[in-house]
Amino acid sequence: MRHSGRLAMTDAFLHSTAWRTLRAAFLRANPRCCVPGCPTPADTVDHIRSRRRGGAPLDPNNLQGFCATHHNAKTARLDHPDRRASIGPLRVSGCDAAGRPLAPDHPWNGATWVGRT
Ligand SMILES: [Zn+2]
Repeated sequence: MRHSGRLAMTDAFLHSTAWRTLRAAFLRANPRCCVPGCPTPADTVDHIRSRRRGGAPLDPNNLQGFCATHHNAKTARLDHPDRRASIGPLRVSGCDAAGRPLAPDHPWNGATWVGRT
Protein backbone atom coordinates (compact mmCIF):
# COMPACT_ATOMS: atom_id res chain seq x y z
CA MET A 1 0.00 0.00 0.00
CA ARG A 2 1.31 3.44 -0.91
CA HIS A 3 -0.53 5.43 1.80
CA SER A 4 1.17 6.17 5.09
CA GLY A 5 -0.31 4.05 7.85
CA ARG A 6 -1.80 6.99 9.74
CA LEU A 7 -3.50 8.60 6.75
CA ALA A 8 -4.92 5.30 5.58
CA MET A 9 -6.26 4.53 9.07
CA THR A 10 -7.96 7.95 9.34
CA ASP A 11 -9.53 7.66 5.94
CA ALA A 12 -10.66 4.13 6.61
CA PHE A 13 -12.53 5.20 9.75
CA LEU A 14 -14.21 8.24 8.20
CA HIS A 15 -15.33 6.19 5.22
CA SER A 16 -16.43 3.15 7.20
CA THR A 17 -20.06 2.12 7.05
CA ALA A 18 -20.22 2.10 10.86
CA TRP A 19 -19.14 5.76 11.13
CA ARG A 20 -21.23 6.98 8.21
CA THR A 21 -24.33 5.27 9.57
CA LEU A 22 -23.77 6.60 13.10
CA ARG A 23 -22.99 10.10 11.81
CA ALA A 24 -26.19 10.25 9.72
CA ALA A 25 -28.32 8.98 12.64
CA PHE A 26 -26.70 11.50 15.01
CA LEU A 27 -27.42 14.43 12.68
CA ARG A 28 -31.04 13.29 12.29
CA ALA A 29 -31.45 13.18 16.08
CA ASN A 30 -29.36 16.33 16.73
CA PRO A 31 -29.95 18.61 13.74
CA ARG A 32 -28.71 21.83 15.36
CA CYS A 33 -25.26 23.06 16.31
CA CYS A 34 -24.62 22.18 19.98
CA VAL A 35 -23.42 25.66 20.97
CA PRO A 36 -26.23 27.27 23.03
CA GLY A 37 -28.14 29.85 21.01
CA CYS A 38 -26.56 28.93 17.68
CA PRO A 39 -29.41 28.67 15.14
CA THR A 40 -27.30 27.00 12.46
CA PRO A 41 -27.90 23.38 11.41
CA ALA A 42 -25.10 21.03 12.41
CA ASP A 43 -23.15 19.65 9.49
CA THR A 44 -20.13 18.29 11.35
CA VAL A 45 -20.17 15.47 13.90
CA ASP A 46 -17.28 15.93 16.28
CA HIS A 47 -15.77 13.60 18.88
CA ILE A 48 -15.91 15.34 22.27
CA ARG A 49 -12.81 13.40 23.29
CA SER A 50 -10.88 12.99 20.09
CA ARG A 51 -9.99 9.58 18.71
CA ARG A 52 -6.35 10.63 18.88
CA ARG A 53 -6.70 11.11 22.64
CA GLY A 54 -8.42 7.77 23.12
CA GLY A 55 -12.05 8.86 22.74
CA ALA A 56 -14.49 6.13 21.75
CA PRO A 57 -14.97 6.53 18.00
CA LEU A 58 -18.46 5.00 17.81
CA ASP A 59 -19.96 6.00 21.19
CA PRO A 60 -22.93 8.37 20.62
CA ASN A 61 -22.22 9.91 24.05
CA ASN A 62 -18.82 11.01 22.72
CA LEU A 63 -20.35 12.96 19.83
CA GLN A 64 -21.50 16.54 19.35
CA GLY A 65 -22.83 18.32 16.29
CA PHE A 66 -21.34 21.61 15.17
CA CYS A 67 -21.97 24.14 12.43
CA ALA A 68 -18.88 24.86 10.33
CA THR A 69 -18.14 28.10 12.24
CA HIS A 70 -18.14 26.49 15.68
CA HIS A 71 -16.29 23.40 14.54
CA ASN A 72 -13.57 25.67 13.19
CA ALA A 73 -13.58 27.54 16.50
CA LYS A 74 -13.10 24.29 18.42
CA THR A 75 -10.36 23.16 16.09
CA ALA A 76 -8.59 26.50 16.48
CA ARG A 77 -8.61 26.04 20.25
CA LEU A 78 -7.04 22.61 19.93
CA ASP A 79 -4.20 24.32 18.08
CA HIS A 80 -3.77 26.74 21.02
CA PRO A 81 -4.32 24.66 24.17
CA ASP A 82 -2.70 27.33 26.32
CA ARG A 83 -5.58 29.71 25.54
CA ARG A 84 -8.36 27.15 25.93
CA ALA A 85 -8.92 27.59 29.65
CA SER A 86 -9.04 31.37 29.52
CA ILE A 87 -11.70 31.75 26.87
CA GLY A 88 -14.40 29.54 28.42
CA PRO A 89 -17.03 27.53 26.57
CA LEU A 90 -17.85 28.18 22.93
CA ARG A 91 -20.65 30.71 22.63
CA VAL A 92 -22.58 32.70 20.08
CA SER A 93 -21.42 36.30 19.68
CA GLY A 94 -23.82 38.58 21.59
CA CYS A 95 -25.15 35.76 23.81
CA ASP A 96 -24.24 34.42 27.24
CA ALA A 97 -23.01 30.85 27.77
CA ALA A 98 -26.62 29.59 27.91
CA GLY A 99 -27.40 31.15 24.53
CA ARG A 100 -29.51 34.04 25.89
CA PRO A 101 -29.04 37.41 24.19
CA LEU A 102 -26.99 39.88 26.20
CA ALA A 103 -28.78 43.00 24.91
CA PRO A 104 -31.21 44.25 27.61
CA ASP A 105 -33.66 45.44 24.95
CA HIS A 106 -33.88 42.01 23.28
CA PRO A 107 -37.48 40.63 23.37
CA TRP A 108 -36.27 37.53 25.24
CA ASN A 109 -35.20 39.84 28.07
CA GLY A 110 -38.68 41.26 28.65
CA ALA A 111 -38.74 44.09 26.14
CA THR A 112 -41.87 44.43 24.06
CA TRP A 113 -41.70 44.85 20.31
CA VAL A 114 -43.52 48.05 19.48
CA GLY A 115 -42.60 48.23 15.82
CA ARG A 116 -42.21 51.32 13.72
CA THR A 117 -45.04 53.84 13.50
ZN1 LIG B 1 -22.79 26.89 15.68
